[in-house]
Amino acid sequence: MSDVKVPLLDLKAQYAVIRDEVHAAINEVVESQYFVLGPTVADFEHSIAEYGEVKHAIGCASGSDAILLALLALGIGHGDEVIVPSYSFFATAGYVQRTGAKPVFADIDPVTYNVDPASIRDAAARCTSLKAIMPVHLYGQAADMDAILEIGSTLGVPVIEDAAQAIGTRDSQGARVGTRGAIGCFSFFPSKNLGGYGDGGMVTTQDDGLAEKLKTIRVHGGKPKYYHKVVGVNSRLDALQAAVLKVKLAHLDNWSASRHRNAQYYDRAFAEAGARPTGATHDVSLGVRTPQPADAPATHIYNQYVIRVAPELRDPLRAYLQERHIGTEIYYPVPLHLQECFADLGYGDGDLPQSEAAARETIALPIYPELAERQLQHVADTVIEFSEARAAV
Ligand SMILES: *Cc1c(COP(=O)(O)O)cnc(C)c1O
Repeated sequence: MSDVKVPLLDLKAQYAVIRDEVHAAINEVVESQYFVLGPTVADFEHSIAEYGEVKHAIGCASGSDAILLALLALGIGHGDEVIVPSYSFFATAGYVQRTGAKPVFADIDPVTYNVDPASIRDAAARCTSLKAIMPVHLYGQAADMDAILEIGSTLGVPVIEDAAQAIGTRDSQGARVGTRGAIGCFSFFPSKNLGGYGDGGMVTTQDDGLAEKLKTIRVHGGKPKYYHKVVGVNSRLDALQAAVLKVKLAHLDNWSASRHRNAQYYDRAFAEAGARPTGATHDVSLGVRTPQPADAPATHIYNQYVIRVAPELRDPLRAYLQERHIGTEIYYPVPLHLQECFADLGYGDGDLPQSEAAARETIALPIYPELAERQLQHVADTVIEFSEARAAV
């Protein structure tokens, strides 16, 4: 058995390259003794606005809080409804519920795993108090923004983009995610493509009025300080995170390019072994379906590289890879509409079949930028070896 080890993510490999830059940046903050918001955060917000090609970027405490701030800035609360995909990280729906509003779940497209505009239309038809639509740019690929923005404008509701996994991604118009919706929400959780050394997040908007609201809400709603027309929350980005993130932002495009190269390596290896892209209808000789990125100008930053196998093979494949020192993860094992905490909303098995199938059939492989070729080869060979052995029985 090979002795090559491939963790799902190896942040130490990245740290080894940027160690000196990061230490200098952290040191500067410590010397300044200015820790929350302040000049380092303002400078980083400016850099993100520039990188993201958006007018305003406003730091906050996490990607989840970015969603909360967006909902609050749009006045969403008790009795309101927000359409979200059922196949996402919990925060997408959790904070909708937390504001007192109701998540209304839409199904996904089985090829891109992004929310299906047709399912948004169906969900909207069932709503009585719809206040926003929140697509997620899942795994690093943009949702169908043209269709979603059109639905939003027809219904007269804003679109909030959960871009936590997709910083820098371009949609089918070549626009950066987080620029065309009313508000974009980003996460700097360590496992995201631009990850800090702790929690952090950002909201983006082109709208001056919304930007002012977001900035006020993140400091308890005080404007000026100690005078409150509204009740906000405490959700600020700290200077240590901003300093680390500013260093890492300069490397982000290179890292995204490496992730892309790694994805191409897998695509090619699996295709040669007989795999088909997700969405292919013909018979497959290898029971593996690979991701299918959209055509340029759309881009994919591969926060995750997710393959799909028959449901009865998914967990055995995961165990097989684990035994051979290959880390994997299931994003996500339970679609949101079937989470226990949402039982009151009345959804059941079979209501959103594509989300349910994805939850049973997908598995994320290591894709981080620093993967060496022998690691990529070990992953590809092991997946192919497993699939061929299964196909033979
Ligand atoms: C990571 C993530 C979030 C939440 O970000 P945190 O910074 O961890 O709070 C929200 N939505 C999606 C789709 C995510 O992947």
